[in-house]
Order: sequence, then structure tokens, then C-alpha cells
Amino acid sequence: MSRTGRRALFKALVLDQVDGKTVAEVKQLEVGDLPKQETLIAVEYSSLNYKDGMAVTGTGKIIREFPMVPGIDLAGKIIESDSDKYQPGDSVILTGWGVGERYWGGYTQQASAKADWLVPMPEGLDSRKAMIIGTAGFTAMLCVMTLEEAGVTPGQGPVLVTGAAGGVGSIAVMLLSTLGYEVAAVTGRESTHEYLRGLGASQILSREEMSAQSRPLESQRWAGAVDTVGGDILARVIAEMNYGGAVAACGLASSFKLNTTVMPFILRNVSLRGADSVSCPVERRTRAWERLASDLPESAYTTISRTVGLDQVLEVSQEIMAGQVRGRVLIDPNL
Ligand code: NDP
Repeated sequence: MSRTGRRALFKALVLDQVDGKTVAEVKQLEVGDLPKQETLIAVEYSSLNYKDGMAVTGTGKIIREFPMVPGIDLAGKIIESDSDKYQPGDSVILTGWGVGERYWGGYTQQASAKADWLVPMPEGLDSRKAMIIGTAGFTAMLCVMTLEEAGVTPGQGPVLVTGAAGGVGSIAVMLLSTLGYEVAAVTGRESTHEYLRGLGASQILSREEMSAQSRPLESQRWAGAVDTVGGDILARVIAEMNYGGAVAACGLASSFKLNTTVMPFILRNVSLRGADSVSCPVERRTRAWERLASDLPESAYTTISRTVGLDQVLEVSQEIMAGQVRGRVLIDPNL
């Protein structure tokens, strides 16, 4: 049986609740078990994101309904389609829209999805590359686009990336440095310094230094910032922004809280902008994926990822929750 043909029986990771606890198990499913949507997809790859780690380990309330196949993104080929938009054999990418939270997700050999959720595979990418990028890389690109829209250009000064050795952070560092920005990286792990320099960071700051309580305004250091961690670090980043600088905030790996003042906004014209990948409109999605296909260097696909099968998802989920994952973890459901 080819990886992309219809299978009567297939493997999926299924989450259930037993005595109030989340339990993950690889199960054999039938096509009829899949919630019916417009398209049936042969999943070639999925990936591990922070939110997947939360879902699989039962941290927070990510899953809305059990049983659930987790995996907030996937890439593969259409097997069957009730929509004119896609034909069997088309390569597609799916991220967000509540997939892997509210709707069954990507940790499976076959998935069903609404046609409107899908993005056609851009020229230059395949399923493997698309999921090395995954939701994390897509979000990193949304952050880069957000900074560009705020007028941050290379040459204005360094751009800071927090949680830099994580999935979003690694790709943000790589994208920004490829686009000609001077990149500074914040990490809590000394073991990642060489890796981050290899991705293009020219300056490395410790998480500890950046977590220190900040005054409303600190010395100006950054033309732009991509923040994946929130909390005290984001508060310090805002206080350290240059006049007219912009921060793209997308994550909460440290905290969802933000204790700041209006001073950087009213005295330094700083802007704080959000980046959301889940409900991002289709046009912006498509543009971001095309930019990723053209802007991410080939080296990204070799240096930042490792691949695991469905039976290792629980282990890597525990790692990502402990902040131990470097770069991106690719999930191959056909391993
Ligand atoms: P990862 O776990 O791969 O990366 C997070 C990184 O943050 C870690 O590698 C670590 O980097 C750093 N970190 C972890 N814990 C802490 C802490 N307590 N304090 C400070 N830094 C910490 O996750 P992802 O890259 O997949 O996701 C990053 C964040 O972005 C998550 O909060 C996720 O939910 C969010 N996200 C949001 C999206 C959106 O649509 N807005 C989409 C995708 C992700 P280091 O070791 O370098 O210090």
C-alpha cells in the first residue's frame, strides 16, 4: 500500500480521559471512525508544537472533546474530495482552525478536513519541509511580516528573538538573519548557544538577564522583537525598545501575564502587535507560506529538525513541556 492511497485501516494517536487524566494510545482506526469532512487526506507528516505538548500531556484545557486525535498541523495528499477546490493527489498543508483541539488533527495516517482550512502546497516545498516549518515556522513568518508591516527594516538596529532555541524562535532567528537583520537571541540554555549562532544570531542573552524586573523605560536596544514567552521577559523587551520599535508577540512559554506600563508606548512610540496562526485569514496564510518557501534557506531543513513516529509522541511532548526541545520535531505517522 502506498503512503498516499486510501487505507481501510490506519494508525492514529488517540487521546482519551480516564479518571480525569489524559491518556494517549496509538490505535487502529477505520475510515468510518473519522469525523466526516469534505476532504480525506493521506497524512505524510505532522509536527510537534508547544500546544501539542500541552494537549498530549493534558496540561491546560487544549482539548475540547474526547476522544481526540491531537496534532495541530499536517501535510499530505488529498485522497478524496467533495470540494471543487481540491482533487485527489493534490498536496496540501493544514494548520490551526482548532484542528487537534476541537477537530481531529494530524497525528494519524489519514485525516479529514474542510477544504477551506487547507493551503495548497507552495512551489518549492513538500510535506516534509512544510512540517519541519509547521505551525511554529508559520507563526515565525507571521511575526516577521508583522514587524515588516510596522516598518522595521534591516539596518535600523538589532531585532531580538525570545525563546530562541524553541520551534518558533529557531525559525524566527533563521528568517530574520536570512532577510538581513542583525539578530539577538534570548535563551535559557547555554547548550544552545552554538546552535543559535549557526542559525544566524550574532548576540546571545541569557533568559535570567532578560527576566530581571525592569523599570518602565530602560536603555534603548532593539529595533524589533519577536516574543514567544510573554511574562517578565516581554515586559523587559517592551521597556528596552528603540523609539518607534515594534514587538510581535505570539507566545506564552513563560507566562500569559504581562505587567508593563504605558511609558514605552506614549514616550517612545513603541508598538506591541499580536500574531495569531489559528484563525489567520486564508490570504495572509497563503502569503506567509509562499514567503516561507522562498525565504527560508535550504539549511533550515537539515539543521533544525529530528523525526519521530506516533509511538514517541508522548515522550517528545513531555520534553517540549520541560523546555528541552531544540528546534523542530517532525512526526512521521507512517514510521
Ligand atoms: P517550544 O517549546 O519549542 O519553544 C519555547 C521556548 O521558550 C523554549 O525552547 C525555551 O527557549 C523558551 N522557554 C520555555 N520555558 C520558558 C520559561 N519558563 N521562561 C522563558 N522562556 C522559556 O515552543 P514553540 O516554539 O512551539 O512555541 C512557543 C510559544 O509560542 C508557545 O507559547 C506557543 O503556545 C506559542 N505559539 C503561538 C502561536 C500563535 O498562533 N500565536 C502558534 C505557535 C506557537 P530557550 O531554551 O531558548 O530558552
